[in-house]
Amino acid sequence: MLRLYDTRSRQLEPIVPANARVLRMYTCGPTVYRYAHVGNLRSYLLSDLIRRVLEQHRVRSVVCQNITDVGHLVDDEEIDPTGEDKVLQQARREGRSALEIARFYEDAFRRDTSALNMRTPEHTPRATETIGLMIDLITKLIEMGHAYAVDDGSVFFDARSFPTYGEISGNRLDALKPGHRVEGVDPRKRFHADWALWKGSDREMTWETPWGRGFPGWHIECSAMSLRFLGEHIDIHTGGKDLRFPHHEDERAQSNASVGHDVVKHWVHGEHVLFDGRKMAKSTGNVVLLSDVEAAGLDPLAVRLAFLEHRYRQQLNLTWDTLHAADRTLRRWRQRVAEWAESPSEPIAAAYADRVQTAFDDDLDTPTALRVLRELERDETVSPGSRLETFLHLDHVLGLDLAVDIGKPPVVPVLPPGAAELLEARAQARAATDWAASDRLRDELASLGVKVIDTAEGQTWS
Ligand code: AMP
Ligand code: ZN
Repeated sequence: MLRLYDTRSRQLEPIVPANARVLRMYTCGPTVYRYAHVGNLRSYLLSDLIRRVLEQHRVRSVVCQNITDVGHLVDDEEIDPTGEDKVLQQARREGRSALEIARFYEDAFRRDTSALNMRTPEHTPRATETIGLMIDLITKLIEMGHAYAVDDGSVFFDARSFPTYGEISGNRLDALKPGHRVEGVDPRKRFHADWALWKGSDREMTWETPWGRGFPGWHIECSAMSLRFLGEHIDIHTGGKDLRFPHHEDERAQSNASVGHDVVKHWVHGEHVLFDGRKMAKSTGNVVLLSDVEAAGLDPLAVRLAFLEHRYRQQLNLTWDTLHAADRTLRRWRQRVAEWAESPSEPIAAAYADRVQTAFDDDLDTPTALRVLRELERDETVSPGSRLETFLHLDHVLGLDLAVDIGKPPVVPVLPPGAAELLEARAQARAATDWAASDRLRDELASLGVKVIDTAEGQTWS
């Protein structure tokens, strides 16, 4: 049975779907105003991994992932109808319409996630196409006394009407400090921590409502969509850890208040990606896109493998070196799988497969799973046919396309330009017992991607 770390209970919890054969999972999707960076992509991988591990237990998942194409403001802490919408701001910068921008980056998001072998969620509702659901939910919350409209047509959630606010992040209402705005707390709020469900405005991309014209707040869309597409009992909700507060606290308050019970059973959050030691974010200027990885000649699935080398709950410090190393491992495994496929197939190595499955079940311990796989790769006591079947079986979860080289003609390695001369020079240095020169030349060859191996018969390379 799969166990996951539940952010709210702060412990490992067994995952037992409310419906024995189908697990319902909601995962916060992208705001489609720019390309997703590989940090974002790691967060989206979390639900894909959970779904693949559950498949091994014969549990099907129904996943809903929203596409935010309106309502996510540059600063979403406070209501501010004049505050820039991320999509509208980008549309102005690129001289295109808001919907053009949104659809363009949504397509890019789909290309990236499919290049990383993430399964397409069953439901991918867009905010602009589910405004009616949000208006219905807000109406209900107003009728129940959990929300109130103010004079400009904005609607706030009454935070104090939801006593268990803060259980996910630990940010209880009585400990929250009034906002960071210089103007102070919006005087229309009954309480400083109330947040906007709807923002009165007549800018572009606004809709009529019983309270006036405006656009939805970001948090309400996830409540409205999850309740509509998955129902009142959702087994797992995932997202990056920065979404714990306020996004997930606000979503939890809205959803639970509207139905009178906890909607989400387990909240699961992924840690962030650093690149060269700094948080990957536009503001720190160290954003790496999947297209950058491909432009460097690496397989996009090397990124997936680099993610799997760390548990989702560990901070991951990516570097170009780790990505190159993952790419080499990926290519080697595919080649070995192709070699093993020359032998007759044999039953999977059950002891190895069980150890890997146990690691997956243990809060997605993918680093341990990969260590066991490396052990199996080297274990000559296991027949090639059995290693083949075990790798392919585990690839259902890993999603690394390990079978792609089967049947292809073997790759004849080609030396990069200049390497033949270096190899020749090194052979001469060794003949002259000039070990310093030999080592220097080996390093130079390594920097070209050529690994030199010294054998009794002289040097060879790979
Ligand atoms: P955003 O576009 O900022 O709303 O982020 C989309 C998703 O990516 C959210 O689930 C964030 O938690 C997640 N995220 C943002 N930055 C990082 C990062 N550096 N590493 C991992 N996940 C991130
Ligand atoms: Zn969300």
